[in-house]
Amino acid sequence: MTRLNLELNGPDRAINFAQGFPDFATDPRIVEAAATALRDGFNQYATTWGAPQLRKAVARKQSITWGREVDPEREVTVSCGATEAMIAAMLAAVDPGDEVVIFEPFYENYGPDCIISGAVPRYVTLHPPDWSFDPDELRHSFNSKTRAIVVNTPHNPTGRVFSRSELELVAELCIEHDAIAITDEIYEHLVYRGEHVSIATLPGMAERTITISGASKTFSVTGWRIGWLIAQPSLSAGIRKVHDFLTVGAAHPLQVAVAAALELPASFYVELVGDYRERRDAIITGLQDCGFDVSAPDGAYYVMAGIGAFGFEDDTALARHLIEKVAVATVPGSSFFHNPREGRGHLRFSFPKRIETIERGVRALRSLRP
Ligand code: PLP
Repeated sequence: MTRLNLELNGPDRAINFAQGFPDFATDPRIVEAAATALRDGFNQYATTWGAPQLRKAVARKQSITWGREVDPEREVTVSCGATEAMIAAMLAAVDPGDEVVIFEPFYENYGPDCIISGAVPRYVTLHPPDWSFDPDELRHSFNSKTRAIVVNTPHNPTGRVFSRSELELVAELCIEHDAIAITDEIYEHLVYRGEHVSIATLPGMAERTITISGASKTFSVTGWRIGWLIAQPSLSAGIRKVHDFLTVGAAHPLQVAVAAALELPASFYVELVGDYRERRDAIITGLQDCGFDVSAPDGAYYVMAGIGAFGFEDDTALARHLIEKVAVATVPGSSFFHNPREGRGHLRFSFPKRIETIERGVRALRSLRP
């Protein structure tokens, strides 16, 4: 959709609410840290499982948040983005024939990651409008073949922040079936309402959780490709081997820069969430005014917008129409379901954009009011 919009409308006219990356500048302190790392000579391979500065910074921050000592030597592995962390975790921890539970709609990579690992995905539906799951459906998705469940909170594409009690049920099922949780917490700092709970902090889960996060979203550096995971030493050992064979390692100077970014004061995170709340409110008000069926997401930077009022055949037809008529790119909801029919009533809008971009996009969309 991004490409089609650029092709038809050119970079000056095209408005991108499709892919989830910022159109505003990265904090200059973070850019400067990268420039300094390049000048200071961090230009050769880092240790394959991560530069010590970054592993220490991740462990320090996570130890404070979780209230337990995270070991940078044996539990933290740096990867080329959360994306590589997820496939490395699956290839290491899941065997052919195993089953992996995935909530849908889901971030597009989880299904393919699972299939590449030889495992069979078992989908559990998140139901609109609040994108909650049926506890019985989740219970029935677990069986003797279940090896893992993928949990993404705050959630792409719905903006859902899973509650403590929902995650407690996930933990209970993992323990009962001797399964692991692979959690994608890349939006951990973008929570507008409720609390972010790491499954790894629930009783009995530290030893059976692979916690994934990264720099892309928190520090607005999606092009740097720096992510990490935290897992107990025996899981980490296997993941590190897969990671070594997949990529050898992430860009060394950028690892050093992210280590510096992780030392930014608490005010950075307060400002981050404040700015995103403003963007969220601007796009939600605008989309409601245009006739989309939306409510404010509690986390991440996406909203799934109901398109029933527009009378289009499906999501893809409306997404194409928006590009052709008003130069606005979105993602058809069907992209996030294994059965595309389930997503045909929604478009996903992403809002890591300047307020002026959001206002321009909403103005363009208004001309289509049903
Ligand atoms: N996980 C989720 C849920 C995402 O939405 C995204 C990007 O959109 C990623 C991972 C990608 O993270 P990274 O840039 O660290 O690979």
